[in-house]
Amino acid sequence: MADLAKKIIEILRDKTRQDGDEFVALHEPVFLGKEDVYLKDCISSGWVSSVGKYVDRFENELASFCGAERAIAVVNGTSALHVCLILAGVTRDTEVLIPSFTFVATANAVSYCGAIPHFVDIQERNLGVDADKLENYLDEIGEFKDGKLFNKITGRRIAAIVPMHAYGHPVDLNGLKYIADRYELPLIEDAAESLGSYYKGSHTGNYGLLSAMSFNGNKTITTGGGGAILTNDQGLADKAKHLTTTAKIAHPWEIKHDMIGYNYRMPNINAALGVAQLEELPEILKVKRSLAEQYNAAFREINELDFLWEEVGNISNFWLNTVILDKHKSDQLEKIIIETNKNNFMTRPAWTLLHTLKPYESCPRMPLDCSESMSKRIINLPSGYKVRSLL
Ligand SMILES: *Cc1c(COP(=O)(O)O)cnc(C)c1O
Repeated sequence: MADLAKKIIEILRDKTRQDGDEFVALHEPVFLGKEDVYLKDCISSGWVSSVGKYVDRFENELASFCGAERAIAVVNGTSALHVCLILAGVTRDTEVLIPSFTFVATANAVSYCGAIPHFVDIQERNLGVDADKLENYLDEIGEFKDGKLFNKITGRRIAAIVPMHAYGHPVDLNGLKYIADRYELPLIEDAAESLGSYYKGSHTGNYGLLSAMSFNGNKTITTGGGGAILTNDQGLADKAKHLTTTAKIAHPWEIKHDMIGYNYRMPNINAALGVAQLEELPEILKVKRSLAEQYNAAFREINELDFLWEEVGNISNFWLNTVILDKHKSDQLEKIIIETNKNNFMTRPAWTLLHTLKPYESCPRMPLDCSESMSKRIINLPSGYKVRSLL
């Protein structure tokens, strides 16, 4: 076993008080409160599906937690992204600026619109889109025609920019908002991983025109499967609600639709789970944060890597705790992943960069030096509430 892998396993043993027999997952859901009460209420009342009070309650309580005007609950984070893009005006044969360093859903949602992902680079300090690099790049490849930004090389309109808060760490929203304003691009936040993360005092998801959240089983809280659209624009919120509920016109008995809508509404039974989970969110965040603090203190003692901490002024939810190996140690990544998993600690490398995936290999991109470097050096550690509660 490599020295470095050994050191990492020792810390994982110590911080999880686990001798190696018990499997420690990367991120597991926890149900600490009223989940069973609310779920039973759905079943006994018969309101399990597309109508019921928990959807409204979940939307109101989520919006209130995030400090957003409105939240619209949907079936998953991917559908939330899809609808955000449609409402931001992303149409067929346009390009959308997204990181290559993200979960595939960001790119897939762009493709569902018939648009083309245009991959941009990230910065090491938060693993999010690098605003300075992006600005220089757009100066080089962009041109304005009729007040709209076009890619000079492909001739296609650039329709939006979608940064992602990686592993819960807020991206440079001020820098990106400046670019979005300068180039008149709608900003959409992929906030799927950042419930409970704050950028300069405000909850992530409030800088963009719209943002998308996920409540998949591996996220900070879960609705089984689910997502939400956040926005501070009432008009857009109404449109999002309409579009995600088959575009049905409200009427006591007529069944009439005024556009091609989507059946993306979150079922009541999932929202019931979500309402219970939101009640536990502060406790979950607190426990996850204490785990991150413990990891941070311990990994600071190892020279060959950095533990990714939050930037000054921001608060991360530490959805997934991350170590970044030194440049000259990237050859050890595979070994560390294999050894830690052999020892029952579930660790994972970063996503395979999207521009290297078959469906996206021919998409336009800027030089992705930091993304490429990070993808060889990142290890995600067990991070769920249960890791600390094993103590
Ligand atoms: C989880 C996730 C999504 C998609 O959410 P689903 O609910 O799984 O559809 C989108 N983007 C990122 C970055 C994610 O981590």
